[in-house]
Amino acid sequence: MRIGVIGAGHAGVEAAWRASQLGAEVVLFSGESVLPYFRPRVVPLAFGHAELDNISLRPESWYREHEIDLRLNAEVIELDARERVVTAGGREELFDALVLATGAAPALLSFVREFPHDVVPLWGVEEGLAIRERLDKTRQLLILGGGISGVESALYARQAGLDVTLVEKIDHLVPQQLGAGAATVLAHRLRKAGIHVVTGRYAVTVVKREHLHVTLDDVSELSGDLIVTTVGAMQELKLFEQAGLKVDRGIIVDEHQQTSVPGVFACGDIAQRDGLRTTTVVHAHEQGRGAGENAVAFVRRRPLVYVPEPLSPLLFKHNDMEIESVGPPAGDNLVEVVLTTDGQTVYRSVLLEPSDSATSAGGILCGVQMIGSHEGFRQLLDSLGRPWSDIVRSSYPTANG
Ligand SMILES: Cc1cc2nc3c(=O)[nH]c(=O)nc-3n(C[C@H](O)[C@H](O)[C@H](O)COP(=O)(O)OP(=O)(O)OC[C@H]3O[C@@H](n4cnc5c(N)ncnc54)[C@H](O)[C@@H]3O)c2cc1C
Repeated sequence: MRIGVIGAGHAGVEAAWRASQLGAEVVLFSGESVLPYFRPRVVPLAFGHAELDNISLRPESWYREHEIDLRLNAEVIELDARERVVTAGGREELFDALVLATGAAPALLSFVREFPHDVVPLWGVEEGLAIRERLDKTRQLLILGGGISGVESALYARQAGLDVTLVEKIDHLVPQQLGAGAATVLAHRLRKAGIHVVTGRYAVTVVKREHLHVTLDDVSELSGDLIVTTVGAMQELKLFEQAGLKVDRGIIVDEHQQTSVPGVFACGDIAQRDGLRTTTVVHAHEQGRGAGENAVAFVRRRPLVYVPEPLSPLLFKHNDMEIESVGPPAGDNLVEVVLTTDGQTVYRSVLLEPSDSATSAGGILCGVQMIGSHEGFRQLLDSLGRPWSDIVRSSYPTANG
């Protein structure tokens, strides 16, 4: 039984491992030249706080031991989903089942193409090392994109002694995980650490004279020696569309991670399930594992297993900066209850969903946000979906821990 796994990131390596554990002969195609790596570690790598050698997911010998035929520099350029034929490195190969795990690509602002050496999207090892190479000559760093990777980059860069400006288009930082209250405290802490935070503004043009000059939408100007962008992701779907697979914002899969073509599975950032794409390491692992298992089950004509959707809270720590969050950042129908805040260093809140039931008066716990403290976070995480009144009654520490 031969299984082809396309893409050797978090999802692909997990899928390859599971399929090989179940007895399959696995070929793992990687478009990159380095051993598969832990992508979140690219941020410390870029700022000199991690080395390439210690961010690999597995040592080279591990692939041999598990009889996974890892092919580096083997970008898949053509795919026939129905016939399960893969073309990479000038060679066509036939498989009994396929797992697609090609992840996402960085969203590119228009001026990245204009100044490829000066405006670098922080994404993979290649970009991380390109940033690192420039650090010696960089005094002022501009980071465009105030999500969690932008915040982490700003903290590392500031630690390295750079003048750092962090620009976020939405009116508050980390908008995908934090509401305005938590983000205000976060911004306050970053400013206190010497980071210049600009929110509700976006870069319109970049001009290079002696330095790089960025004009924002309100015509104010910022200058720097290097621009790092952390503005999100996009999916490259052409290969899969041409292969005959149903795609939308990702490759559409069912609860078994199976695509519209039987025997072809997709997982990780490239997959779209129930209309949603998940973009975390935890989801990539779980889906990769399930896709690998189901690829083998397909070949053996066994029933496919349901692949669970794990909870994946944001757990961020950089020196004394802590951010924890789970659930939606905000919502028109949600009520935020602030448990603790001094407005400057600490913020703890819960988000409640209204409920019709009298026993759930006060609402159902659907989210938690914390800055500068993780007091009670685990307990609240375990209580998601429960009525807030019950949680309070069971003596959850609501005020100041
Ligand atoms: C800078 C950064 C920081 C992050 N930090 C966090 C974090 O702290 N916590 C968290 O949960 N998530 C984080 N994420 C998100 C997380 O890394 C992704 O959700 C996760 O990597 C998805 O795994 P994946 O296997 O789907 O894709 P990836 O890990 O991106 O792997 C896909 C691989 O497929 C390869 N590929 C693409 N096309 C082809 C092709 N045609 N042929 C062969 N190979 C191909 C790519 O080169 C890549 O190596 C971060 C992402 C970035 C960019």
